[in-house]
Parts: sequence; C-alpha cells; structure tokens
Amino acid sequence: MKPVWGGVEAGGTKFACIVARSPEDILAEERFPTTTPQETLARVIQFFTHNHPEKLSGIGVASFGPLDINPDSATYGSITSTPKPGWAYTDMVAPFKEAFNVPVVIDTDVNGAALGEHLWGAAQGLDTFIYLTIGTGIGGGGMVNGELIHGLTHPEMGHIRIPHNWEEDSFPGICPFHGDCLEGLASGPAIKERWGESPENLPHEHPAWELEAHYLAFGLVNYTTTLSPQRIIIGGGIMHHPTLLKTTREKVQELLKGFIQHPSLEEDIDTYIVSPGLGDKSGVLGAIGLAMQK
Ligand code: ZN
Repeated sequence: MKPVWGGVEAGGTKFACIVARSPEDILAEERFPTTTPQETLARVIQFFTHNHPEKLSGIGVASFGPLDINPDSATYGSITSTPKPGWAYTDMVAPFKEAFNVPVVIDTDVNGAALGEHLWGAAQGLDTFIYLTIGTGIGGGGMVNGELIHGLTHPEMGHIRIPHNWEEDSFPGICPFHGDCLEGLASGPAIKERWGESPENLPHEHPAWELEAHYLAFGLVNYTTTLSPQRIIIGGGIMHHPTLLKTTREKVQELLKGFIQHPSLEEDIDTYIVSPGLGDKSGVLGAIGLAMQK
C-alpha cells in the first residue's frame, strides 16, 4: 500500500487540507476561511485528527508568506513580515509536528503549486518553469533545472516593479511596501480599489481587463527574459475572466517584439502561457508533493 500524506494549502483568505496517497486516491479534504492563526491552525489539526492521523507519513505545508524557509534558522517555518493582521511570525510547522509527530515540509504556496503542476499537471516533464497566481495577491514560484527555486529566501515575483504610466493610470497602487509594484497595481484588491467594484462584478468588456492584461504582460515578459522558463502556468481567481489569458498572451508577444526566437513564444504561445492543469487544486496537491520530498 502506498503511503498516506497530509497537505495544507495555507492561503490568506482560505485554507485547504487534504489526506491522500495521490491525486487519484484522496481520503479526505476540506476547505475553510482563514481567520486568526490560533483558530485556523486548530482547525487544521482537527481535520487531520479526524482523518486517519495514524496513517500519515508526513505533512506538507504550502503557505502564504513571506516565509522563513532556511532550515538552519531559529524561526524556520514561520511566516515573517506579512501585512496580514495577526499572522506575522506565526509558526506554520511546529504545531503540526507536535500534534502528529511526523516530518513537516514547508514551502511557499506558489512553490507548492509549482511542484503539484510538475508532478501531476501542466509542467510534467519540464525542469524550468514558473507558476503564478493572480488573486488576493500576486505570487510566483517554480523550478529551475528541476529544483524548486530557493535562494536568499524565496522569490517574491509579485513585487517586481513594472512601468506605470501615471497619465493613463493615476491609481497609486495598494502594496503597503511599494505602492505600485505589480501586486500593488494588478492584484484583485488593486482592481477593486481602482475601479470601485470587485473584479467578479466588473463587466467582461470593462477597460479594467485591458489594463490588467497590460500589467500582467509586463510581469510575464520580465520573468521570461530573466528565467527563460519552458512554460508559464498562470492561475488564481482573477484569471477566471474569459479572455484575460488570451489578451495577456497577445500583449506578451507585442512587448517581446520577436526578440526571443522560439516556437513557444511565436506560434505556440497558447501552450506556453497556460492555465493550471490541476485547476484550483495545484496548491493543496502540491503540499502533498512537498510532504513526499522528505
Ligand atoms: Zn509590493
């Protein structure tokens, strides 16, 4: 019998938990809103306590951050400087280790999702690719040469600076650290603040979406030119808009101006910039992938 793994996708607005042997063999799963750290982590522990805790070989946590993922650090496994109220310096590893006495592996939510896509989704067979989420925040993770990207800490792809034409878009951005970084200009809360309406309530033909594609394309061009990914997977609630992905692909091609000569960027861009193969389960299944790495 294959081992059983626990997975936790810890997001800023919701948590997803799973107990599974593989994506085809899921024993239990649950989603619930993110509230206080005490209440939310207790709910995760309750979930595993009620779902085969004796079988767990390990737990993977794919968490929002920024995170301390340096195994030599005294605060390894903690969220660090998040602006999310109450969550700064929350330990996302020790409570689960103590409760279940199994190895616990942590990485960013987007590296977790990237791993899920690599194992079972749209990045199978690729060794250098990125996974982006465009939602409450903007984040990116991925692999380079078959390894999840880590470095000084971990990438913060949502906080890159991109051209901001103040005459065309006078909105100052909402990132508490940078104002008009990519996340500050193009996350869901930024769209809501700029236009005075939640993205899901904006008509599909509203000018907000053209501007959104414009900003996302700048981000994607920067990642393409710096990391040379073999594919870009782009998920998150904002990408549910029916034509945003298509418009973004077109703008990426316009901005690159044929400079990087590869069929993927020219005739095959529809299979170069793609939606997640695992839908909205990349993160929670990727968390299981993290647990399997131990
Ligand atoms: Zn920022």
